[in-house]
Amino acid sequence: MNMPGRIEERQVQQIIDIAGKENTFVQQSQIDDYTHDMADYSATPGLVVRPSSEREVAEIVRVANETGTPILPRGAGSSLTGAAVIEGGIIMDLRRMASVTRVDTVNWYVQVQPGISLEDLNKELKTHGFFFPPDPASSYICTVGGAIAEGSGGLRCVRYGTMKDWVLALRVVLPSGQVVKFGEALSKNRAGYDLVHLMVGSEGTLGIITEAWLKIIPIPSVRTKRFLVTFDNWETTGEVIKRLRSSRILPHLFEFLDRDNVLALNEKLEMHMDEAEATLLVDVEDSEVQTVEDIFRQCGAVKITLARDEEEADAFYQARSMAYLAVKATASGVQVEDVCLPIDKLADYLKMVKQVAAKYGLKIPVNGHAGDGNVHPLILYEKSDEKSRDSANLAYEEICRWAISMGGSVTGEHGVGLQKPKFMREQLEAHDGREALRIMKEIKKIFDPYNIMNPGKYVEIA
Ligand SMILES: Cc1cc2nc3c(=O)[nH]c(=O)nc-3n(C[C@H](O)[C@H](O)[C@H](O)COP(=O)(O)OP(=O)(O)OC[C@H]3O[C@@H](n4cnc5c(N)ncnc54)[C@H](O)[C@@H]3O)c2cc1C
Repeated sequence: MNMPGRIEERQVQQIIDIAGKENTFVQQSQIDDYTHDMADYSATPGLVVRPSSEREVAEIVRVANETGTPILPRGAGSSLTGAAVIEGGIIMDLRRMASVTRVDTVNWYVQVQPGISLEDLNKELKTHGFFFPPDPASSYICTVGGAIAEGSGGLRCVRYGTMKDWVLALRVVLPSGQVVKFGEALSKNRAGYDLVHLMVGSEGTLGIITEAWLKIIPIPSVRTKRFLVTFDNWETTGEVIKRLRSSRILPHLFEFLDRDNVLALNEKLEMHMDEAEATLLVDVEDSEVQTVEDIFRQCGAVKITLARDEEEADAFYQARSMAYLAVKATASGVQVEDVCLPIDKLADYLKMVKQVAAKYGLKIPVNGHAGDGNVHPLILYEKSDEKSRDSANLAYEEICRWAISMGGSVTGEHGVGLQKPKFMREQLEAHDGREALRIMKEIKKIFDPYNIMNPGKYVEIA
């Protein structure tokens, strides 16, 4: 009988025959990079393979399927919930499949392989005068396939929505090794159930995305301005977004950093930011600058800086993008939170996080997408100290339960993986979704009857 997760000699040879020895790794030193994600969830795969084509993907999946060996598709491994690690089994790194096949500037879509990073995709689109809006702060590494499978969000999502709003069609290798196409590269298509969006946020549990047709839009001709604004308390942030929205202004960016984030950026990355309690990064259109500046002042802004030029605007953006890594470098352990609240609850949410930090004696720096009600508390703890780990867990649970009780979601964009199945269940049960969860479990069984695709996570264990 086969041991799930164990890679037999015969299988290793079959995979080498498909992908080549230089793309098949079994030695510890070769697979080290694949033993963790970027929130330090860790597990050791039995084999890593880097296919170069859909045909190779399908053949490798058939090998895994024959023996019931778990298989995990992976992009950059930048996710934060344990979704991209596996104990034993096969990791399939898709980053060799990174071509842009077609940029259609009439029908406004790009046809692309899954392994390209979002940043490289946008570099290519820029040469055509187009762009792809979803931009996780990890865009410089995270892949199209990973971002689709995580249903990722990002900084511009306040204006443009998340990955789910931009995927038109997908080619997918199912756990049987069969290749299917879901959706059409059309602006309208009503032919059947929406299986494309079942794949968005599927966390590698239903199939392997080998090609995507993504909506694109022209680089906006309307000029935007970028503000960096500081306040002497967190709650004001909630008030600012409320006033902007009730003035019918939808910012292009509305990001939040607290003092601890700024301290970490100044210390770890040698930035020179003002150390205020709350810092907002806000993009608005030229015609809105005066109204927005007035709102900042009415809300008690301490300092309002309008980026002088693109270079300065970019420096502000980089600070926000690097905040998680800077904060992570200040502690041995970090539990990354991702709850999403109704936007009008943002001020209450930030207040609650402060109370939870004080209650458990923890440092909880906060940053994130305040314009979406999706702000990330980064719960810091000492890995070697059991009491500190326990406190971090209690704080994390309290934040999740508070979000559920306020009608929020336990994950706005990072997904579930190993981190949140329990709270995903609690959320669904609390919000009339018990039957929805049962249906999700049935869907997993239909796609993956032998449970080889990223098993032991997400819906299966919720
Ligand atoms: C500094 C930093 C900032 C971040 N900021 C954001 C942010 O602003 N917004 C946000 O949403 N996330 C953010 N993240 C989380 C993460 O970067 C995103 O979830 C990202 O989209 C994951 O892409 P990846 O290529 O690294 O995927 P991986 O981590 O490799 O994989 C993630 C999941 O996708 C699956 N997968 C990967 N490729 C495929 C494929 N081809 N087919 C099927 N399944 C696949 C994997 O099995 C896994 O379940 C951040 C992370 C870091 C480290």
